[in-house]
Amino acid sequence: MNTQSSLPISFEFFPAKTEAGAEKLLNTAKKLAASNPEFFSVTYGAAGSTRDRTAGTVFDIKSLTNISTAPHLSCIGANKSEIAELLALYQKHDIKRIVTLRGDLPSGMGLASGELRYANELVEFIREQSGDQFYLEVAAYPEIHPQAPNAEKDLENFKRKVDAGANSAITQYFFNADSYFYFIERCQKLNIEIPIIPGIMPITNYTKLARFSDACGAEIPRWIRKQLEAYGDDATSIKQFGEHVITQLCEKLISQGVPGIHFYTLNQAEPSLAIVDNLGLGK
Ligand code: FAD
Repeated sequence: MNTQSSLPISFEFFPAKTEAGAEKLLNTAKKLAASNPEFFSVTYGAAGSTRDRTAGTVFDIKSLTNISTAPHLSCIGANKSEIAELLALYQKHDIKRIVTLRGDLPSGMGLASGELRYANELVEFIREQSGDQFYLEVAAYPEIHPQAPNAEKDLENFKRKVDAGANSAITQYFFNADSYFYFIERCQKLNIEIPIIPGIMPITNYTKLARFSDACGAEIPRWIRKQLEAYGDDATSIKQFGEHVITQLCEKLISQGVPGIHFYTLNQAEPSLAIVDNLGLGK
């Protein structure tokens, strides 16, 4: 079992849209690299919209920090040959890990298109194309994926990804540790044995958090919501409260032996670093 300070941590970014943003992101990665993460990851825009920026950002961060950096790759709206091309590019750049997703189409783009409909099919395709060359992460939803008909089906669908060859999973963020523990219990009953890393969203801004959470089906408990609402524009109080709540959430998860912690950084170093420091991680 990992001692607390050696618990693997990882940090997720999104590709910046401007040159200034890209430079800021590299600075963020540099600061976070000091806490010895196991890996960084970079998201992939809907239907391949950030294809080149995702790849470019991954290569830049990897060469700057020398830390393993994983592109996210989603299959919705893509065809197999496009994905095979990207896999070849990643092999050429010695990328070892991919966060493998279905993704979402941007609103207004209609129904799903593409040759691979679900993430399990993408995992299967990557295994067919490149064997065990890549360590594949998939997404998990302790609070249930918003489009799933029910919890049972969602868990069966999660298992499809594991059976197709996923090595590890990262969860959607949540604020209620019991939802994670219950999910793990149900996975164990299905003999799902891969590590399932909790995804952690630091709290820094109520409006953005509420918008994201609505879209991805993450529940903000009433007591957190009410407290954040009460702080209004008081950024200092939101920061202090957020740091306290998320540190406690992580302490609870770590006390139960989670295999790692993955931070959704939103391209900011300080909120995640404050939590890493409070927990004595990344030494
Ligand atoms: P899937 O596992 O394919 O599941 C999608 C839905 O379909 C679920 O409701 C599931 O129950 C159902 N389902 C799955 N397989 C089947 C099947 N074989 N038959 C029938 N139903 C099925 N989005 C981005 O656009 N870019 C990113 O970079 C990105 N990174 C993410 C990273 C993490 C760690 C997480 C948790 C999410 C991320 N997302 C990202 C969001 C993700 O793309 C969305 O949640 C998307 O709606 C589902 O992707 P998935 O890979 O979980 O899909």
